[in-house]
Amino acid sequence: MTHRGIVHIVGAGPGDPELLTIRALRLLQSADVIVYDRLVGDDILGLADPAARKIFVGKRKSHHAVPQTGINALLVREAQRGRTVVRLKGGDPFIFGRGGEERDYLRRAGIDVTIVPGITAATGCAAASGIPLTHRDHAGAVTFVSGHVAAGNEGPDWAGLARSGQTLVFFMALSTAGVTARKLIEHGLDPVTPAAIVENGTLRNEKFVTGRLAELESLIRDNRITGPALAIIGDVAALAHIETHDREALAV
Ligand code: SAH
Repeated sequence: MTHRGIVHIVGAGPGDPELLTIRALRLLQSADVIVYDRLVGDDILGLADPAARKIFVGKRKSHHAVPQTGINALLVREAQRGRTVVRLKGGDPFIFGRGGEERDYLRRAGIDVTIVPGITAATGCAAASGIPLTHRDHAGAVTFVSGHVAAGNEGPDWAGLARSGQTLVFFMALSTAGVTARKLIEHGLDPVTPAAIVENGTLRNEKFVTGRLAELESLIRDNRITGPALAIIGDVAALAHIETHDREALAV
């Protein structure tokens, strides 16, 4: 084959287009095909070459997501046609984004792949909300946890997560917030540990609420948080501080 295609697996950051990397922007502007999912907003897609083909593979309400095997096959097919493909994922592609699986599949199929890191929602949303995920006085470690794992039979190492002096960031946290709070408290974490929920972080419609670990589920329900949202648990959640000028900067 004379023209060899390539797939760039690119992190789109937490939402605000200004939080894209320069490389992500350059690739968006030069790609022939952009394969994206639900977390990637129109503001970001709007930065792509208007002539690029944009293919949505995420889940919309009441529709099923394109199965992972279908996405893999699509990426391989487009690259084999000699196209430059950007596989655009919210946040960082290697944090709860199946980026690793897609990379492995593409490599096995003999396709050239590059990975472009992105600002994960965890660090992006925390910083934008004024929450330092680590802090010399409050947290010497930070752990990213999948809410899906929290619901599973095996579950994460709750005793380890419940140890104080660290920050926990739960992704896909909404439906499992109740069990998460209960398990952490059962394993010794103080029920009054500060907690924050960030919905649509860094975007215009961002919603930010704080409370205590014991009330995590009601915080979500009472504030009608429907996602995408993160739960940040730990003493640092009480340090949230959103400056007016930050808000204004977000709104531009
Ligand atoms: N690769 C992504 C995570 C994908 S998993 C990353 O690094 O950020 C999808 C989950 O990410 C959502 O359920 C939510 O928990 C979180 N998420 C992504 N974008 C978000 C945002 N702007 N605000 C709050 N949570 C977000």
